[in-house]
Amino acid sequence: MYKLQRLELVENLEKKGITDIALLKALKEVQREKFIPSGVRQHSYKDIALPIGYGQTISQPYTIGIMTQALDVKEGNKVLEIGTGSGYQAALLEKMGAKVYSIERHFDIYNDALNRFDKLGLRVHCKHGDGTIGWEEYAPFDKIIVTAGSPRVPDQLKKQLALSGKMVIPVGDKFSQTLQVLTKIKDDEFEIEDIPEFAFVPLIGREGWKDQ
Ligand code: SAH
Repeated sequence: MYKLQRLELVENLEKKGITDIALLKALKEVQREKFIPSGVRQHSYKDIALPIGYGQTISQPYTIGIMTQALDVKEGNKVLEIGTGSGYQAALLEKMGAKVYSIERHFDIYNDALNRFDKLGLRVHCKHGDGTIGWEEYAPFDKIIVTAGSPRVPDQLKKQLALSGKMVIPVGDKFSQTLQVLTKIKDDEFEIEDIPEFAFVPLIGREGWKDQ
């Protein structure tokens, strides 16, 4: 139903600098409208963030594009996502051939995402809990993507990243963040690249913002 709008959005993202072939293919395949509440579904293919309930949002497609491209996902990569949210980001990663592990702290959001993955036949390993402490059981991860803004890079996530692995995480204050792309060069040594000025909902947890 939304195919034309979807292809148009992907074309726009390509013009804005999203060039990763596997990502573009996934963006063409995943039906974003299936991850969006019915009240705002008609806006599924605008390049904007949209509310998914409980005060949370599904990120803007361009932001998702930039983050996923920076992550440099290869088929078979083990990827940890912090902040499952709607599940759209996880669905893209799964379509790109990654083994996806995703953590969500908000129980209702976690539950909605779980049902959605089942319904759409997506294989995503989900956990309800605080993602700032990672998912030790399945570490190390080739890639880690944090989809909520954090005051700093959580130590546990640094530890659980594989050697040569990459992590993409928005770091800053509660209103505006820089996207940091970290590459693990040695144990506890990282190369850091900054992509400035994005705004995400807060990462809340032991190594994130405190819940009020
Ligand atoms: N990737 C999502 C974007 C979700 S917005 C998507 O594609 O829709 C960020 C999400 O991070 C919210 O659902 C919020 O509840 C969650 N979150 C915030 N702090 C968290 C934490 N410490 N651990 C896990 N999830 C967290």
